[in-house]
Amino acid sequence: EYPHLVEVTDAQSRYGIKSPGECGANPCKQWIVRITNEKTLSKSESSTKDNESQRPEVFFSGELHGNERVGPSTLVVFMKLLLESYSRKENPNPWLKYLVDTRSIYIMPMTNALGYYQNRREEHNIDPNRDFPIDLSQSNLCMRTITARAVNELWREHLFQLAITFHGGMRAIAYEWGTVTERTHREKKSPDDVAQSALGSALSAFAGVGPEKHKRYPHNRINDVVYPVKGGMEDWAYAGS
Ligand SMILES: [Zn+2]
Repeated sequence: EYPHLVEVTDAQSRYGIKSPGECGANPCKQWIVRITNEKTLSKSESSTKDNESQRPEVFFSGELHGNERVGPSTLVVFMKLLLESYSRKENPNPWLKYLVDTRSIYIMPMTNALGYYQNRREEHNIDPNRDFPIDLSQSNLCMRTITARAVNELWREHLFQLAITFHGGMRAIAYEWGTVTERTHREKKSPDDVAQSALGSALSAFAGVGPEKHKRYPHNRINDVVYPVKGGMEDWAYAGS
């Protein structure tokens, strides 16, 4: 419906990695959607090598934990919103239009595709958000899930400047650091703490108050507002990808 704005592929056909398992009658695929206005790409931006693109690239993951259902639904609505607003003849939202014209927006709505299909946290009993090569207790305990491998392949191909990965179970906008080592042995604040704090604060203000106690989303470092993990995607994406 929007061929000049949307490109859809999957990690299996693009990167040749195997399917994580069966999603009903067919093998699970990890869908990757790119939304951007290809017509506004300059020559340097539309370089044949994607990793040389001059256009800022951002990434959204719907879920690493298959039983946390809010992210995939949010991203499907987000994609619809971007595209429908852009294509509206009267009064397209200028900010949403600006995003589509000036950013390459990469979205994996169901990153842990098997977990999402099965409504289970893990992929074959391995937690994908402990499967990234950062702060591991054993250096070989990573990239065992197809979920992590698919994210890794996409991130090797692109230089994402910002990313959001959705979870469920609590309300928070959380940013680096979020690892045990960083919390206990090193600087509490990441090098981009000022920028990340400002972004978190702005996101929280924009989201407004929710039904729960009519409070805004708490925003803070993962270590402070959630908890540190070993092998998490967030700190890997920021510092180890
Ligand atoms: Zn989660």
